Amino acid sequence: MTRTVLAGGHVLDVLSGVVERSDLAFEGDRIVSVATGLDGDVVVDCAGGLLVPGFIDCHTHVCLSRTLGSTQPYSLPRSAVPLSAVPVLATLLRLGVTTVRDAWGADAGIRLAVASGWIDGPEVLISLRQLCTTGGIGDQWAFGLGGFDSFADPAMPDPVSEGEVGARAAVRRMVRAGADWIKVTATGSIRFPDAHDVQLTVAEMAALVETAHRHGGRGVMVHAHAARAAELAAVAGARSIEHGVWLDEAAVHAMASADCWYVPTLSATHGGSARHDGDLAEAHRRSVRLAIDAGVPIAMGSDAPVQPHAEVLHELAYLAEAGLGAMGALRAATVNAARLLGLSTDRGVLAAGMRADIVLLNGTEPDVAALDQRVRAVWRGGTRVSRE
Ligand SMILES: [Zn+2]
Repeated sequence: MTRTVLAGGHVLDVLSGVVERSDLAFEGDRIVSVATGLDGDVVVDCAGGLLVPGFIDCHTHVCLSRTLGSTQPYSLPRSAVPLSAVPVLATLLRLGVTTVRDAWGADAGIRLAVASGWIDGPEVLISLRQLCTTGGIGDQWAFGLGGFDSFADPAMPDPVSEGEVGARAAVRRMVRAGADWIKVTATGSIRFPDAHDVQLTVAEMAALVETAHRHGGRGVMVHAHAARAAELAAVAGARSIEHGVWLDEAAVHAMASADCWYVPTLSATHGGSARHDGDLAEAHRRSVRLAIDAGVPIAMGSDAPVQPHAEVLHELAYLAEAGLGAMGALRAATVNAARLLGLSTDRGVLAAGMRADIVLLNGTEPDVAALDQRVRAVWRGGTRVSRE
């Protein structure tokens, strides 16, 4: 087996935060050694660079770049929606994102296409659609039209349910269609009054979590902008709270007690046109500070294409500014993201036995500002990513 050595650079140990001059060797898709003075069949000069683990985005939407925010989101031919993921996935991989959790929109075919090598991309974990109660975000309904299904695709099951029995059935529909994670919306969208509602009952949320866990130990990721919905989901055993723009002390303490993760997706209120959302952005950063103080574990999620996928690494800068600091942001996008996704024995740190998901950055400082400008090379599972 070919032994590749990334030689002459520095290596970041994300666990300790230490940057040291070191080489890294991998064979096949596995790292075999991190030490000085290594040799191998292929040697890549990494002088002046920093090796970090491949980035993990715990909340993205790889199939929505042409529909979310579009004035005519339902005008695309059906096949165009998944095909729009092809350039998105290539972009993410070139930026060093080697694993993503899709928070709705991608089906099992996207995961299969990447795993089979038909298209280039990060490994994709899917959730299919957003489970909700009647009138929730995933419930597509319009005056004059009534209920409709923009996917019109039996591989994207109906996400709407009522009551405990309905909630269990909705989870099972997603599991049947291949969901790795169960996505649930407990509040409305950020810019509408129902962002502060608690749309599910305690019994419904508990039924979702219990049924997801019953099927292969799947986790539930919960869209919750406001504190009471986040608290209810955490107490019910949700694995992660997404967004959480308006958390409070009770919510973060419930999350910390339940070992529930926080994926802030600060890009939703920062960056691009959202730069003008001063109040929302400040509320969001306050939630991050409350979570840090309460000891809630935090993982990186961009919520792209809320901002373009090409700007995914800006999320690390927002996390750093919100209180995690550069090293905390790097951990949120590597080792901590791997822990949330249940993959920490396989990736998230650069160590022998781990998957060779590696990013070579220009410069040896573990900064996160303008990170996308610093990506020199990327390996996913030991395969170097084409820069074309
Ligand atoms: Zn999202």
